[in-house]
Amino acid sequence: MCRHLAWLGAPRTLAALTLDRPSSLLRQSWAPRRMRHGTVNADGFGVGWYAPGLRPEPARYRRAVPMWTDASYSSFAGAVTSGCVLAAVRSATVGMPVEETATAPFTEGRLLLSHNGRVPADGALRELAARPGAPVPDSRCDSAIVAALLWESASRLPLPRAVADVVLTLGGLREPDGTPSRLNLLVTDGTQLVASTWRDTLSYREEVDGIVVASEPDDDESDWVDVPDQYLLVADTDKVTLSSLIS
Ligand code: GLN
Repeated sequence: MCRHLAWLGAPRTLAALTLDRPSSLLRQSWAPRRMRHGTVNADGFGVGWYAPGLRPEPARYRRAVPMWTDASYSSFAGAVTSGCVLAAVRSATVGMPVEETATAPFTEGRLLLSHNGRVPADGALRELAARPGAPVPDSRCDSAIVAALLWESASRLPLPRAVADVVLTLGGLREPDGTPSRLNLLVTDGTQLVASTWRDTLSYREEVDGIVVASEPDDDESDWVDVPDQYLLVADTDKVTLSSLIS
């Protein structure tokens, strides 16, 4: 599984959020600590961030190379600050293309999305994605198709309900060998963070000036909270709400 992280709160640099932590996403790109599927996250990385006052849509930087090889990212990451950031490092699922357009975060309008997991990228998923009016995915990667479905859902539902809708619609799909879908989504519109747990790890930490939500803790402090499986997390700058997706 890939690893992802989002921050909502007082402005921080991209470097503080993704590079400088003891077990930062940079470090997780070669040494993740809680990854259940795969060993390294060397198939690409991406960062999306908001610049309120400049424009409503987020900026996004993504590459189909290991994070540790991109000296240009580390050169500007310490000079860009934002109060809402979503970043990911990728371990491509077998059969999925390794290309920039398959790399999270995906974006549409004000939304950013990352996916830890795997959904059978044929049959039912493709049929759903081909519905009239559904946005065209950026890539044939499963995560890009999931993102396109979320854009459609979020155009008619509040964001937390849209995320739950996509997870519950796809959550029962299985690979031909019976392997169930894994659908840990992390989504933001710049004002709230919405995340699902569906067969992978997720933790969050409330800090004095904001909240961080991540596939795994980026340090060994004890104030991280692990989110149970099959839950929806919704966070704004005031509070975090957890609710079961299946009851
Ligand atoms: N299936 C997605 C991809 O191929 C996500 C992979 C993952 O979570 N490791 O990019």
